[in-house]
Amino acid sequence: MAYNPYENAQAQFDKVADMMNLEQGAREFLRQPMREFHFTIPVKMDNGTTKTFKAYRIQHSDARGPSKGGLRFHPHETADTVRALSMWMTWKCAVVDIPLGGGKGGVVCDPREMSLAEQERLCRGFIRQVNRIIGYNADVPAPDVMTNGQHMVWMMDEYETITGGHYPGVITGKPLGLGGSLGRTEATGYGVIYVLNDLLKNEKVDIKNTTASIQGFGNVGEYAARLYTELGGKVTCISSYDLADKTSYTFRKKSGCNIEELVSIKDQFGSIDKTKAEALGYEKLSGDAWLSEEVDILIPAALENQITPDNFSTISQKVKFIVEAANGPVTPDCDPLIKERGIMLAPDFLANAGGVTVSYFEQIQCNMNYFWSKEEVLEKLQTTMANAFSAVYKLAKERNVYMRDAAYMIAIERVNNAVKMRGWL
Ligand code: NAD
Repeated sequence: MAYNPYENAQAQFDKVADMMNLEQGAREFLRQPMREFHFTIPVKMDNGTTKTFKAYRIQHSDARGPSKGGLRFHPHETADTVRALSMWMTWKCAVVDIPLGGGKGGVVCDPREMSLAEQERLCRGFIRQVNRIIGYNADVPAPDVMTNGQHMVWMMDEYETITGGHYPGVITGKPLGLGGSLGRTEATGYGVIYVLNDLLKNEKVDIKNTTASIQGFGNVGEYAARLYTELGGKVTCISSYDLADKTSYTFRKKSGCNIEELVSIKDQFGSIDKTKAEALGYEKLSGDAWLSEEVDILIPAALENQITPDNFSTISQKVKFIVEAANGPVTPDCDPLIKERGIMLAPDFLANAGGVTVSYFEQIQCNMNYFWSKEEVLEKLQTTMANAFSAVYKLAKERNVYMRDAAYMIAIERVNNAVKMRGWL
């Protein structure tokens, strides 16, 4: 079954709007983006031809503050994916209670097939289009799938060239020394584990007695695996996508994966070298084997729509917790099955909010032109995640609802209040 992420995002919203008895006007307004900017970017390619790329910047909401959200470069990018992601950003910023709204951008392209010079021209072309709608106090992009700090710096530079001033807070995810924040690299993965650890403590489970299986070993998967093992947990499986074979594999070590060792044999796209992994004693299994591993915790940290009613029955009865590190890894029609089996699920827009939280800290530091130590950033991150988790967990227990629904209730209420107090509805 093919899932449309925007339909998923709206289905999740509608379900909770029903539970909250949200009035019709607010439903209609909040279940779709406020603004959509669809445009094309002509780019002179190295071979002398000009190629036109389709692009989007979509602002779901700026009721609580400037829209905030990443920019993806992906050959299969669609307006609906960007709409869904912009909506999830609104709920994400609201649930961790940072004063930002939700936005997202996408360019239909494959940067792996473009030279650096072509990528730079694409980034500058993107800003020449969106400079009229972004700004540190309007809409703030950041890196996401297949975009990185270098892309952000080219974009910041183009924005500053057009506007004639220094505005490092216009974009986040920049490298250190050019307005980047210490702790941003670790932020999302660490945030996932802060949430998991708080969940385990509340459920009276010692993290040291747990095992986990992780899908994805990119930025999020790696740092989640690092902190989880540092806290005493044991990762037995990690899967990643193999670019050469165009398929994914799961690497398993029952005695516990050595994260540093696996980091040393992965490439810049997060793919683990299969030959080296086997030489280091890892079993190489099929790509979906991570899901059926007998562990206490599953951490999907790769893609959307990975846990569905079709593969749910393959999940081991031992699994008691799922922490959604990726965006949208569980489909809405699978939520009832997870709830019914008594598995506790920490939802994506809470669990992976560490990234946007430190992006917000980056903006603050840029606007002050004063930068904090890594310890200070991570301490503030942990406090923010702990407060958000505790509110969601408490509401879920009080109302006896699924944690995703509790997180939505908190986020929707905050955004709806802002909208009403502004007099929009
Ligand atoms: P990344 O590109 O660094 O890594 C992705 C990883 O997933 C790689 O290891 C890749 O090999 C693996 N992968 C891809 N397809 C796979 C498949 N079919 N099976 C197994 N593994 C597969 O991406 P990332 O930044 O780590 O992001 C991962 C997820 O987390 C995405 O959903 C992203 O939107 C979300 N997210 C990221 C951040 C962030 O700060 N990076 C913040 C919030 C949410």
